[in-house]
Amino acid sequence: MDKYVKDDGSVSPPHHDPVEIAGWMPDVPYVDESAFAEGKVRLPKTIDELAAHARREMNIARYPAKQWCLPRTSPDGTKALDVLVVGGGQAGFGVAHALKRVHIDNILVVETARRGGEGPWGTYARMPTLRTHKDNGGLESGIPSLSFRAWYEVQHGYGSWQSLYKVPTAAWHAYLSWFRDVADIPVRNETRFEGFSRDPGGLIAARVAGPTGSYTLFTRALVLATGIEGNGIRNLPGLIGDDIPRAAYAHTHDDIDFAALKGQKVLVLGGGASAYDNAIMAALAGADTYIFHRMKELVSVNPGTWGEFNGYLAHYVELPPEEKWRFSKTFGTIKSGPPVATLRRAQSLENLVIHPGEGWTKVAREDGRLAVMTAKGTYDADFLILGTGYRMDLSAVPSLKDHLGEIALWRDMYTPPADLPGNGLELSPWLNPDFTFCPKPGGPRTWHDQVFNFSRGAQLSMGVQTIGLSGIRFGMARLAASVEKYFFKEDSAVYLKGLQSWQTRDLAALDT
Ligand SMILES: Cc1cc2nc3c(=O)[nH]c(=O)nc-3n(C[C@H](O)[C@H](O)[C@H](O)COP(=O)(O)OP(=O)(O)OC[C@H]3O[C@@H](n4cnc5c(N)ncnc54)[C@H](O)[C@@H]3O)c2cc1C
Repeated sequence: MDKYVKDDGSVSPPHHDPVEIAGWMPDVPYVDESAFAEGKVRLPKTIDELAAHARREMNIARYPAKQWCLPRTSPDGTKALDVLVVGGGQAGFGVAHALKRVHIDNILVVETARRGGEGPWGTYARMPTLRTHKDNGGLESGIPSLSFRAWYEVQHGYGSWQSLYKVPTAAWHAYLSWFRDVADIPVRNETRFEGFSRDPGGLIAARVAGPTGSYTLFTRALVLATGIEGNGIRNLPGLIGDDIPRAAYAHTHDDIDFAALKGQKVLVLGGGASAYDNAIMAALAGADTYIFHRMKELVSVNPGTWGEFNGYLAHYVELPPEEKWRFSKTFGTIKSGPPVATLRRAQSLENLVIHPGEGWTKVAREDGRLAVMTAKGTYDADFLILGTGYRMDLSAVPSLKDHLGEIALWRDMYTPPADLPGNGLELSPWLNPDFTFCPKPGGPRTWHDQVFNFSRGAQLSMGVQTIGLSGIRFGMARLAASVEKYFFKEDSAVYLKGLQSWQTRDLAALDT
């Protein structure tokens, strides 16, 4: 193996140590595309031209192009959906497109937010660029002209991709909107999914509420692409008691009026990327900002980047539970701070003071102001921002509350070793390798084959195949194949009859 340069600048000599290779895998070099750089081959000139290429590629890759899903009739007499996807974020769009690639076309995406307000990109993702590597993604499902790179290059010229450091957040947001239109994803915005049951005919009855009121959508399969809070909730530390007014603090996921913080004293809790992004926003808005975290030395290690290779991304899901547990617990023990660029930005702001190694011990109200105590002192504040992440808790998700007794969690199915306790991980739902839920031990499998969990809660069972861009292409393909398998197996006897009648028809044709 050739020597290669690590992120920290050190050069590794040629070596053959498998553990070292597995700990730091060299990048695969790009293949030669100099014909573009030399101007011998040209990119499409406009975004509309690119969309035309994308549509053509979808036709080139259409085989086997049969409308193969057998229809079902809803109790109200209308044609039932094949798949209802809940959530119109990148995962919902990507999954919908992947389903369409296997010709599962009778689908609908429902999304609470208005168009453009889906996911974090125009709201609580308060960073100039995505955190993930620019090569991550793959929403295009093998249609190159639908990729982010193609979309970006057609607007900024060949070479812009090579010089791009990371994907600008605003560009990703705009790309998703374009992707939705060109991939022709049917989305019903401002429509909340509120729960489901299985109707006697075997369809899933999904209760939704939209601008015209509440109604039921009948579907053969339901995909929950509900994001980072899909199986849980924003984590608020117990330090924030009932005596702290709600208007005096926000979680980093909340809407925050940063302009109103000008001239205020803002204390931020957390050592992760979101805490830092919000502290930077507050400081840029003119707040006197202080960020506190327990970590003494911030290490900009992103353990997720270790896992960006085929074997892990595609096949973690097939490991036995004890190995999944060890991988996930190891990820959890690697302390990761904000990306280096974020940290540098924070350090460059005069009105942002970093308090490393100083967690909060108490938050109180004293003389009408907030008082935050640490082991080193007491700090008064006007407003608090909590960069304290999310926790797994299915009971906090209104649309799942009717089914809590029917969903197996890891703690129902697996006992971890004493030296690797769960600390919340055991509350993750236990999923089959096709993303479906399992009943509690001894419980009947009723709706379980028809409901696919593509949210963050899937991670312990499935690896990083759901919400993050590093593995989503593997998850989308697996999800589409899983729904495809369910549909085919459910109707295999009907398909067999179709084959038998096909033979009869051919013979009849010879007779005439
Ligand atoms: C601040 C921040 C920055 C991040 N940066 C990155 C990054 O750079 N790269 C990366 O790969 N990941 C990043 N992530 C992880 C991030 O969650 C995902 O990348 C991304 O948003 C996941 O896409 P998604 O579609 O799964 O979830 P979301 O984008 O959150 O979309 C889920 C959608 O489901 C909708 N929804 C939820 N419940 C319902 C319901 N009951 N009815 C109808 N609609 C519903 C929501 O409104 C939401 O629009 C970041 C996360 C945060 C919080």
